[in-house]
Amino acid sequence: MRDEDGREVRVAVIGGGVAGLAAALALRDRARAQGAPVTVTVFEKEPATGGNLRTLGRDGWQFEWGPNGFLDNEPATLRLVDRLGLRPRLLRSSDAARRRFLLVNGRLEEIPLSPGAFLGSRLLSTRGKLRMAGELLVPRRRDLGRAADEPATDETIDRFGERRLGREFADVMLDPMVKGVFGGEAKRLSLAAAFPRMVELERDHGGLFRAMIALGREKRRRGRRTDAGPTGVLHSFDGGMAVLVDALAAELDADPGAEIVRGADVAELVRGNDAWSVRWPGGERGGFAAVVDAAPAHAAAGHVRRLDTELAGALAGIPYAPMAVIALGYRRQDVAHDLNGFGLLVPGREKRNVLGVLWSSSIFPGLAPDGHVLLRAMAGGAGNPGVMALADRQLVDLVLGDLRGFMGLRGDPALVHIIRHERAIAQYVPGHLARLRAIEAAAARLGGLWFSGSAYRGIAVNACIKETETIAGRVLAALTGGGGGAEGAR
Ligand SMILES: Cc1cc2nc3c(=O)[nH]c(=O)nc-3n(C[C@H](O)[C@H](O)[C@H](O)COP(=O)(O)OP(=O)(O)OC[C@H]3O[C@@H](n4cnc5c(N)ncnc54)[C@H](O)[C@@H]3O)c2cc1C
Repeated sequence: MRDEDGREVRVAVIGGGVAGLAAALALRDRARAQGAPVTVTVFEKEPATGGNLRTLGRDGWQFEWGPNGFLDNEPATLRLVDRLGLRPRLLRSSDAARRRFLLVNGRLEEIPLSPGAFLGSRLLSTRGKLRMAGELLVPRRRDLGRAADEPATDETIDRFGERRLGREFADVMLDPMVKGVFGGEAKRLSLAAAFPRMVELERDHGGLFRAMIALGREKRRRGRRTDAGPTGVLHSFDGGMAVLVDALAAELDADPGAEIVRGADVAELVRGNDAWSVRWPGGERGGFAAVVDAAPAHAAAGHVRRLDTELAGALAGIPYAPMAVIALGYRRQDVAHDLNGFGLLVPGREKRNVLGVLWSSSIFPGLAPDGHVLLRAMAGGAGNPGVMALADRQLVDLVLGDLRGFMGLRGDPALVHIIRHERAIAQYVPGHLARLRAIEAAAARLGGLWFSGSAYRGIAVNACIKETETIAGRVLAALTGGGGGAEGAR
């Protein structure tokens, strides 16, 4: 595909995190498959690509800056892993990591894996369990779907949990889960945007237990057996999550039809008559037929501020939760707990500063030197941003003060490494889906502009990778006149 003068068609991708890099590769691969001479330029603010996917190491310790892994239930990610030749480097989490714990009344309780075992556990009071079991009798919400369209009627995760499973379940189970996944508050996040599958289950089956029964029956009928289950098994790479983004960048660096411009802190996108230009303090590049902006939403807002203030406002209005990640290394004999599991989450009603702790070296053995263990504590989140202002020593003291008792920690840690994410994870607040529609409509009016990344349709690495396949298809369709253009822009 060439433009009217027979030149190559150029696409700009802003942001060299996993979303931007995967979008660039997907675009190149699809263009090559179609015989379309589309070139891609990635603009990354930092000297190195990868965004949140960074693996750090020192003295035999290995820890992650951002995500510690991904689930193996997303085909798009596995396709990318294969495309990059990384399958031999995949690292499956240990079986012990299936065991997860909650802090309940100051004690660690294992989360049972079946509803039956749940009823026998000490996680909820008898009253709470009865209410949870009563979910079977709770009628389906009539205006499901429609309700999510409007900020005022968009149901929060907490409200959904209370409605279907009861107040106690929402406090003990959902609140810590949302803290662990989003660093967010169940009372402030939209169910339809954050966990669309839950809305589908209620809509299609009338409730969650009914859905479990129907899906279990369906699985038995098909005779499918998988130990991954619908939620998948956590994986990383030997060498950590950076392996994925490093391989993506290497592939693009080696491709004559792709370029990564590192150290380009894009300030502005400029829409000319027939092409886009990208401006940053050190330079400008023009002649792009399309732009995929895969920088975080707050950065993307700045890129379009002079083009469309409403669009900029919609992007800037996506809040992010701050989070401090504290890697703690201990000598094995200084931790009384057996660490036989994935880690623990802490419900807000326990009144601690720690959101959760991953037992990293139990999940992926080899992350700590011999005779040592690695823990990863998370503090802060949307509900407790104040901890971000603490000095390092205070933060560590606060976290250890929370953990010492129930984890049985003795003495000082052998390793402490603090990573402060001032804007860690996008928060899909009520009205998020309506906001996305406004963003898509504004991008469509400008034409040839797409937004991608964890701020929009899923915060997980898997969601970002899945979306890049869709976006690459839409961009190419728009460039080739195959149904893109205004309606293809998002
Ligand atoms: C502490 C933490 C733990 C997490 N744990 C998990 C997990 O276990 N599993 C999971 O699936 N997900 C997890 N996530 C989410 C995961 O990190 C995101 O899904 C993923 O990093 C999103 O990738 P992205 O490319 O959209 O954004 P980013 O990784 O933020 O990349 C955006 C890129 O844009 C660049 N950029 C910013 N501004 C500009 C600009 N003006 N010009 C040019 N470039 C710019 C940035 O430098 C960056 O490289 C975690 C996130 C955090 C913070």
